Amino acid sequence: MHKFFAATDDEIAAGRTTDVYFERTMEVLSAKGKLDCHAVSEFTVGGLPDGWKWGVFCGSEELIRLYEGRPVDLYGLPEGTVFRPRTQEGIKVPVLRLEGPYGAYCELESPALGFICFGSGVATMSARCKLAAEGRTVMSFGVRRMHPAIAPAIDRASYIGGCDSVSSLIGAETIGQEASGTMPHALIIMMGDQKAAFKAFDEVVEKAVKRVALVDTFYDEKVEAVLACETIKDLHAVRLDTPASRRGSMIDIIREVRWEMDQRGYSNVKIFISGGLGEKDLGPLVRAGADGFGVGTSISNAPVIDFAMDIVEREKRPVSKRGKFSGRKRVHRCMACDTWSVSTGKDVPVCRTCGKEMALAEKLLLKNGKRTKAAESAQTIRKRAMQQFEKLGLE
Ligand SMILES: [Zn+2]
Repeated sequence: MHKFFAATDDEIAAGRTTDVYFERTMEVLSAKGKLDCHAVSEFTVGGLPDGWKWGVFCGSEELIRLYEGRPVDLYGLPEGTVFRPRTQEGIKVPVLRLEGPYGAYCELESPALGFICFGSGVATMSARCKLAAEGRTVMSFGVRRMHPAIAPAIDRASYIGGCDSVSSLIGAETIGQEASGTMPHALIIMMGDQKAAFKAFDEVVEKAVKRVALVDTFYDEKVEAVLACETIKDLHAVRLDTPASRRGSMIDIIREVRWEMDQRGYSNVKIFISGGLGEKDLGPLVRAGADGFGVGTSISNAPVIDFAMDIVEREKRPVSKRGKFSGRKRVHRCMACDTWSVSTGKDVPVCRTCGKEMALAEKLLLKNGKRTKAAESAQTIRKRAMQQFEKLGLE
């Protein structure tokens, strides 16, 4: 019996979250002695949400763990790869390829897709927000808007995509960082007034935690911001979470708060903004003087990336359904100009755009169910993603 409506690790690994038609497929193939039939399957996506040109591939660590121990070989892009859905010629780029007896992986198709569709959507939106913030701090604040069972997955994917920190305790533990946060309106209300709340927070919370005061609870932002500066000696930042009903111009509010804090000698105190922010809001706020953002729902509820898994080879012969390209393919990428190539031959292609030799983009991840290397840290994966998207820019 479950207390909450979430599948356990064991249930996911056993295929309990899979769609029933795979269970029936297994039943039929088993009855007809075809479970051991060798099949090659690949994961591709035809296009990305909202016309995005690239995505951050994320969630494959869990997919590796899902297939670990089963008699399959898994090839694919390392987690954190900034990928394109199609080559310049319009061929879909396989992000992963599974090889083995079909019965060894058939029943896990649904959870496998869920890991990468969800993780890559969140990581890509996080990357877009980080780029839009032009180098300023972006904190992942959105776990509260999604089912709590997936808080670790949300926070890990947002961190890998580019968020500098995450807010949930378990998410922070998952990525091996300290959780970050400020103070809620509830603290100010429960303490009676802003000044009492600022003082109490500064007295009680351990010194290592940067002091960020929330300054929009009862009065105008600039009044509370100055009050916070005067009350907390080592104030790191003020946070403006101005409600929608009061937002005449957030840009002007930021400019005004900055001005008034500067006037009183608090130019070292930063300004953080939160509350319903999306990627398009961040640039103008940065230019008005914002130093950091808490981005919630737009990251945790990012559109998923619609990866699909398809059989492309059966018993060594190329085969596929209508609309998919058959055969085992290899994925190459030009690291100089980010041109992608999908081919069936053994040759290393030359980049059609710039003429340089391309590099094999896929790696062997599982060999007969055994990992080829230990799991990477979230920091390593994030670094890989950021190095790539900083080169590409927002398209
Ligand atoms: Zn090139």
